[in-house]
Amino acid sequence: MKYKEPAPIVDKLNPLESMMERFHEASRILGLDESTYEALKSPEKSVMVSLPVTMDDGNTKVFEGFRVVHSSKLGPSKGGIRYAPSVHLDEVKALAAWMTWKCAVVGIPYGGAKGGINCDPRSMSQGELERLTRTFTTAMRDVFGPERDIPAPDMGTNPQTMAWIMDEYSKLAGVASPAVVTGKPLVLGGSLGRVEATGRGVMVSTRSAMAKLKMNPGNSTCAVQGFGNVGSISAKLLEMQGLSITAISDVSGAYYNKNGINIDEAIEYVAQNKSLEGFKGGDIITNDELLELDVDVLVPAALEDQITVKNADKIKAKLIVEGANGPTASNADKILNEKGILVVPDILANAGGVSVSYFEWVQNRLGYFWTEERVNRRADRIMKQAFDNVYAASKKYKVSMRTAAYIVAIDKVASTSKLRGIF
Ligand code: NAD
Repeated sequence: MKYKEPAPIVDKLNPLESMMERFHEASRILGLDESTYEALKSPEKSVMVSLPVTMDDGNTKVFEGFRVVHSSKLGPSKGGIRYAPSVHLDEVKALAAWMTWKCAVVGIPYGGAKGGINCDPRSMSQGELERLTRTFTTAMRDVFGPERDIPAPDMGTNPQTMAWIMDEYSKLAGVASPAVVTGKPLVLGGSLGRVEATGRGVMVSTRSAMAKLKMNPGNSTCAVQGFGNVGSISAKLLEMQGLSITAISDVSGAYYNKNGINIDEAIEYVAQNKSLEGFKGGDIITNDELLELDVDVLVPAALEDQITVKNADKIKAKLIVEGANGPTASNADKILNEKGILVVPDILANAGGVSVSYFEWVQNRLGYFWTEERVNRRADRIMKQAFDNVYAASKKYKVSMRTAAYIVAIDKVASTSKLRGIF
């Protein structure tokens, strides 16, 4: 195969370079032809817009907005919108590709996209954020659409942001269009089970992997890094499965209790105090120490680039389930593989969220809402099936679960592209 290799591995990769490394590796193993490789590497569409917004002080400020559709081969593109000062086009392009692989690996009929606005949402008022969001929606009226491209929340955006997009888009379209975004508030057509969906998928992936490793949940310990939406719900659901959660953490530090932390108490503490700071249910350790604890299962559910060449060798867990996006740098993969640690990769383990976003879109289009029990049952089925497919591919190609997940995803998008034809 002639296509150019990505840049050589350096000490620390950013998550996007890590993604490209893995895409390259899986393409090589699949024997993907050069033209398909090049076609899948490049996004279908990158849109950049200038967004003039009247600020509360009466001045006009111009923000830069982006939406990148990486692929729409499997269906309308899906992906979050990020509001952060660091947003730039290259980052959005790579995150959009990530969404393509994630949707393909769980077999939902979506392509991948991502959007972003270069702004600091924490320093802006609600009014400024609303005007910015509505201006962005108007600028993207020909990109977004229930049959075209469906945004969702990401860093710096939330259900309220989605409500503004849905409202502005509906006004422009002249029809109520709840299916143009997911992650909406429940009253506006959000789905039951969406808030818990990512953590629930992490739990299902963990149980599936533990079964393969013949690990008994009742005798197993687990450390969870990050105690936000994904971390706290993963911890709670894993505790309910019988695992002892011996360590949890957030930005304030990590907390260890060899007898197991009471997760309900920790959730209640964070609800009262906004963070785990001052939590008395465990001894204080550092986030680095948490990663290296002698536990059976490790769930990184906070940030990218937590497991790197610097600490991979010190990890003692037998199983890592990636709740966060990109928590392992690609140059640490080899070390974890050599140590025999099973890693359930992010594009599989945390795909419960986008799966229930897909259900939200289905329910909006049906105009009929499912019970939480139905949402959970169907999401669990998707996650179990995806795990089994990836596990089978890892055996067939004799590769890690991570490479196998990319193989499953790339193979699906590549074969669909071939059937549809690349022009
Ligand atoms: P969140 O903002 O709700 O929680 C993040 C948590 O990480 C917080 O507890 C925060 O204190 C903690 N944290 C921040 N810096 C830390 C540090 N240095 N060490 C330890 N903890 C730290 O975010 P979330 O929605 O739970 O997302 C977490 C990760 O999961 C992100 O990588 C996100 O992209 C990914 N993810 C989220 C979803 C979803 O549905 N929410 C879906 C897929 C992937």
